[in-house]
Order: sequence, then C-alpha cells, then structure tokens
Amino acid sequence: MAEKREYVVMFPFMAQGHIIPFLALAIHIEKTRNYKITFVNTPLNIKKLRSSLPPNSSIQLLEIPFNSCDHGLPPNTENCDVVPYQCVIRLLEASASLGTIFKDLIEDIIQQQDGQLPLCIIGDIFFGWMAGIAQELGVFHAVFSGAGGFGLACYYSIWLNLPHKGVKADDHFLLPDFQEASKIQFTQLPITMSKADGKDSWSVFHGKYLPEWANSSGILFNTVEEFDHVGLTYFKRKLGTPVWPVGPILLSIENRARVGKEAGITPEFCKAWLDTKPQNSVLYVSFGSMNTISSSQMMQLAKALEVSGKNFIWVVRPPIGFEINSEFKAEEWLPEGFEERIRESKKGLVVHKWAPQLEILSHKSTSAFLSHCGWNSVLESLGHGVPLIGWAMAAEQFFNVKFLVEDVGVCVEVARGKTCEVKHEDIAAKIELVMSDCVKGKEMRRKASKVGEMIKNAMKDEKGFKGSSVKAMDDFFNAARTMRGQNDQKQQKRGDSKLERVKKGLICTEQQVKNVG
Ligand code: UDP
Repeated sequence: MAEKREYVVMFPFMAQGHIIPFLALAIHIEKTRNYKITFVNTPLNIKKLRSSLPPNSSIQLLEIPFNSCDHGLPPNTENCDVVPYQCVIRLLEASASLGTIFKDLIEDIIQQQDGQLPLCIIGDIFFGWMAGIAQELGVFHAVFSGAGGFGLACYYSIWLNLPHKGVKADDHFLLPDFQEASKIQFTQLPITMSKADGKDSWSVFHGKYLPEWANSSGILFNTVEEFDHVGLTYFKRKLGTPVWPVGPILLSIENRARVGKEAGITPEFCKAWLDTKPQNSVLYVSFGSMNTISSSQMMQLAKALEVSGKNFIWVVRPPIGFEINSEFKAEEWLPEGFEERIRESKKGLVVHKWAPQLEILSHKSTSAFLSHCGWNSVLESLGHGVPLIGWAMAAEQFFNVKFLVEDVGVCVEVARGKTCEVKHEDIAAKIELVMSDCVKGKEMRRKASKVGEMIKNAMKDEKGFKGSSVKAMDDFFNAARTMRGQNDQKQQKRGDSKLERVKKGLICTEQQVKNVG
C-alpha cells in the first residue's frame, strides 16, 4: 500500500509579525519536504492570506470560526493591525479561548485523513494552551518563535519573574534564571512590561500560558545556532525540551511582494538609485512594518541625516499620534525644504510607507541599517553583512539591541523607544561611527560580515555539507516521526488487543453492532 502523505498543521497568532514568519516557514517546509500543510487562522486573516500564497502552492488555508464582538473587540477586528493598541491583550485572551474549537478542528481533519494523525502541530509563542491539546490528541507539538533566542529568553524570563518590580527608572536589574543576559536597565523594557505588577492582564496572560511551553515537544527558532546559542541554551535549561534553530526562514523577494504593503517606491527605481552610489556608502533607515517615531524625534532624525552628509534611504510614516496610513505631510513633519534639498543633492530617498527592504540590504552600496531591530530586520541585515544602528520600539527589540551591541558587536544603540528625547548631533555621531573608517566602525563591519557568513552557511545544503539550520530542521522532523512511530505502535497494540477481545466475544465491533441492528 502506498504510504500516505504526511501533513503538518500550523496556527500563528493573528498579527502580521506572527503570520508572515509562519507563512515563510510553511512555504519553506512545502518546498523542502513533501508534506501537506494546513494553515489555520481566523476568517478575515485567511481571506487576506489567499492572495499571499505562491501561485503553485498546495498550502491549505483553514478558517477557525471567530467573531471579534464575542470577545469585547470592535466588529471585524481579527488582527493586531486593526485592533487599537490597548485592545491587543483582548485579542490575545480571545485567541486563548479558541482551544476547544481548535481541538474539534484537528479531530475533523484526522477523520478526513482516515484516522491519520498530523505529523506535527506548530503553534505560536502566545498559544501555550495548544501544547495540552496536542498532548491529548497524541500529536507532536512545537512552538515556533519568529523572535531570536536571546531576545525571547529575556522576554520569557522577565514576564515569569517580574524582576523589575520596584526598580527605579534609571536602575538596572538581573534576570534570576538568565544571568547570562547581565544587567538590564529599566528603560529597556517595553511599556506593558515596565508597568507589569503581576496583577495586570499581560502578567496574568503570560503567567498562565508561557510555562505551558514545557509541555510541548520543543521549540523551533527562526535563528542560527552559531551566533544565538546563549538564548537557545536558556530554553533548553529552563524547559528541558529540545530547541531547533532553523533560521533564517524569510520570505523570498517574489513572495514578499504578495504580502507586502503598498510600496512607496518600485524595487527597480530603488536599485537604479543605489547603483549610482559608491559601494558601502548608503544608510538605510526603517522601523519595521508597523512602528513610527514621534514628530520631534522625526525632526531630529531628519536633521541628523542632513548633517551627516551620508547617502540614505529613509522609510517614513506619519508620526505617533497621526493615523499611520494617512498622507505624509513633509511640510509639517520634516525640516523646511528638507525633501527638495536632498532631492537636488541626490543624497537621499524618502520613501513613503514601505520600501523593498531585502533588495536594499542586499545591494553593495548599502553600508548600515538604522533599525528598530525587529528580528526579521536583524536577520536580513546581518545575513547581508550589514551592521546596525539600533533604536528599539517595542516587544523584545530592546533585548535584541542589547544582544547585538554587547554580545555580537555588530550594533550601536542610538535611542530607546517612542518617547525618548533624541538630539540630532548624537544620532549623526553614531551614524559616523558605524559608517566611517574609524577602528570601531571597521570592526563592526568585519564582525557583521562574519555573522553574515555564519548565517549563509547555516542554510547551506550541498553535497557533503549540511548547515546547522538544515540539520536542525531534519532533527525536528525526525523527532516528530519518532513520536508518530511510537504512537502508531501504541495504537496498533490497542487495536490488536481489541481484535483479540472481539475474537473471544468479549466486545463487539461496530460492524457487528450494525449487523445486529
Ligand atoms: N519590511 C519591508 N519594507 C518596509 C518595512 C518592513 O520589506 O518598508 C519588512 C522587512 O523586510 C521585514 C519585516 O517587514 O521582513 C519587518 O519585520 P521585523 O521583524 O523586522 O519587524 P516588525 O515589523 O515585526 O516590527
């Protein structure tokens, strides 16, 4: 009998920052293994995802019923993109109530597959509740983190220990179970974390679901063992489960065109502009897919770019307090005449909303990246040997910056958060430091290019050589198959003993019951 095709079920949290890395992983698994993939999400997200899949993809999109109004959210709000910031926690809580429906959904799929269990279920870092359900079903379950090991280790440890309770704004503290992180300053905490006291909704949510990771079969990380081992070791020690660093898993240039937002510039125009610039002469500035800075910070950053005299590409969005998708008012938010001056001098490109980031970072003219240090941006930058100037905005980005500055040596920090005061002279000095030929700048660029080699090697799969991330992906699926094999044996044993008992006339089969009926 022909062996049945294995299938994998994936379910990310309803936020673009989670859905996109999951989609990249799904496409990667589909491309490299002959597995079917079922991608679960809420109806409006599935609708959006339909146009994001590559044309020949066999990834199956599956809706899980969800009505935002049932959870105290505005109508039709199923993604962090559209949920007001203060309601994000409600979306998280709502997602945790999907357990029973999710279990029913998996049972339906198993039935449709004639009883064949999924090879594995891959769930979100915010879906700790899923581990127990997978256990009940006897299915291999892994958490997939789009964040790096070090950053997530700090995030995990702080939420579970709240070591900053009572610490003053300028003071430092240590993480009791992650001393390797060394001192963290209170100002390096994202807002929700800085306010946490153990009783607030975020602490309650994380306190309940983060420990559940220990019940999963292990964690998949979008990172590379060779440069992120400190954070990965934390999870191995803390949870006692395997970790599989399988990164970088990123959407290709073609695939990101489908999920990308409205671009403010074509990749061709951007490349043609970069082609006119000398090698290693351009600074790229972007704060990721959803963040923006305050209007005073924007003004200082613009001045810094001008006084630094460097070539630059800057992705701008309306500052904090204005509708992020509204029109960009250069005359209000940038210094007077800024855009004309940089157009005339051909020094810079101000891109509205969205830029072709991978094309920019992979261009030989790009020298440094002033970034919020979201993990995808970090991998994309270092993957091309580009050092960073860090300005974290939220979540674990502050810890990513700390790691890149203190442990890896490929970044300088320029500012912290959306409300800090910045001076253009300081920003310009940091730009100069990273892009000039001073000892520190040279050293950072050398280290970034070394990490770039590590990242490339990790994904190599050539005759006689498998990179660490390719091996980790093999190990992950081998572990899933081993568990499947054990469960099949158990099932068979159960089936055999049932058959024996039927033979002895102790129990009836369904058919016998039907025949009698
Ligand atoms: N991105 C892009 N163009 C932009 C801004 C962002 O292509 O103008 C992409 C970027 O390449 C990365 C993702 O959006 O893949 C941002 O992810 P990251 O983890 O860096 O930050 P987040 O948006 O989740 O805060």
